[in-house]
Amino acid sequence: MDFETIIGLEIHAELSTKSKMFCGCSTVFGGEPNTKTCPVCLGHPGTLPVANRKAIEYAILLGLALNCEIAERSIFHRKNYFYPDMPKNYQISQYDIPLSRNGFLEIDMGEYKRRVGIIRVHLEEDTGKSIHVGESGRIHGAERSLEDFNRAGIPLVEIVTEPDLRSPEEARNFMMELRAVLEYLGISDCKMEEGSLRCDANISVGVGGSRGTKVEIKNMNSFRALQRALSFEEKRQRDVLLKGGIVTQETRHWDEAAGITHALRTKEEAFDYRYFPEPDLVPIEPDPPWVEELRRSLPEMPAERLRRFISEYGLPKDIAKVLVYDKKLGNFYEETVRKGENPIEIAKWVAGDLAGLLNEASIDADLSPVRPGGVSELVHLVESGVISGRMAKDVLKEAFESGESPRQIVSRKGLSQIADSNEILAIVKQVIKENPQAVSDYLDGKEQALKYLMGQVMKLTRGKANPKMASEMLVEALKMRE
Ligand code: ZN
Ligand code: MN
Repeated sequence: MDFETIIGLEIHAELSTKSKMFCGCSTVFGGEPNTKTCPVCLGHPGTLPVANRKAIEYAILLGLALNCEIAERSIFHRKNYFYPDMPKNYQISQYDIPLSRNGFLEIDMGEYKRRVGIIRVHLEEDTGKSIHVGESGRIHGAERSLEDFNRAGIPLVEIVTEPDLRSPEEARNFMMELRAVLEYLGISDCKMEEGSLRCDANISVGVGGSRGTKVEIKNMNSFRALQRALSFEEKRQRDVLLKGGIVTQETRHWDEAAGITHALRTKEEAFDYRYFPEPDLVPIEPDPPWVEELRRSLPEMPAERLRRFISEYGLPKDIAKVLVYDKKLGNFYEETVRKGENPIEIAKWVAGDLAGLLNEASIDADLSPVRPGGVSELVHLVESGVISGRMAKDVLKEAFESGESPRQIVSRKGLSQIADSNEILAIVKQVIKENPQAVSDYLDGKEQALKYLMGQVMKLTRGKANPKMASEMLVEALKMRE
């Protein structure tokens, strides 16, 4: 059958302002429950919200970065529903007149690029958090539930895409691109696992050019979960259609542990939010000169930086991507390049071994125990032949763990590789003498035998021979035997 998958995303990102969306409470994560609250974010009668200017600024910056039109006038609405984690019983959000709309973000899928439409970017407030006390930690079977309102009223941006995505891989790529945009703007800390960046999806599978039924997926808490959940759902819907069945319009919950989605509620029970304009807040009417000033202040975006890393430093795209899609790692890289060594070699170390060590230790690049100066030193030691690439890997690991500089480690351990031709030649001769079978195999045209002989040279020097010199000398010595 001729299937077509259509995916749209709805993303919520917490804005990293100092205070909440409509009151002065702190947004710092954690702390004793209900200590970052006040009568406004607790929804006490008679209190009045005041919009956070910084949050509006951040939302406009995001709108501009996503190529949206910024509304000259936009208003807040009340979205009414009852839930214990929401003290006012309505969420202040935006409805038909959002702050920005009609934008796009392009994703690079390697083989092709796709421009994904952005329907809207609007401002709203976050809810509190319910803690269910009981064995399961879930609401079902809980003995009692507690509410922590520290997060209630944290500013959020909601981003809604057009249904322009065509595969789970594209959806994941879009989220990576969007996260990078948020990171480069410096307006959100974007931690999907901690919930400061969240994503819901709708997915339908159509057959033979006709649109399928839209199913909404919730509870995907990582990039991997997003792709897995959508892949599962794509296959589930195809299987239903292949069996001649009908896909039900519903909301489904991703169960990470089981690796499946299951139905939550059907659309008939969908909420009627009774949206109406928030009477306690004035419209947002950003001055055009202010918007222009914000437009001019936009930093370099990840896609631009990727192009620049490729053209300016001559990096292969896959390496450049590793550096660019982690802003701090990209900054670290550029700082190292400024110390002056070969940019391509530096990129290999930063995007490779160093990124691996940082990842393993869950440390961001700006807090790396090996500083840009250390990486530059390491590259210099390799490039000038003092140590081999193999030895450099161990040196970097040790520098990372101990905080010592690569140069210190090399001299303390006497690690410099043997680049003395007489010393290497003596070992080459010894290896040839001790391995007559391998030598005659090589002379009979078995190239594999050379690798074996090289291995013996490295073994006798305990890996310290400069490999390039050693292999040249070995080939030369073998030639003389022919
Ligand atoms: Zn408050
Ligand atoms: Mn929302």
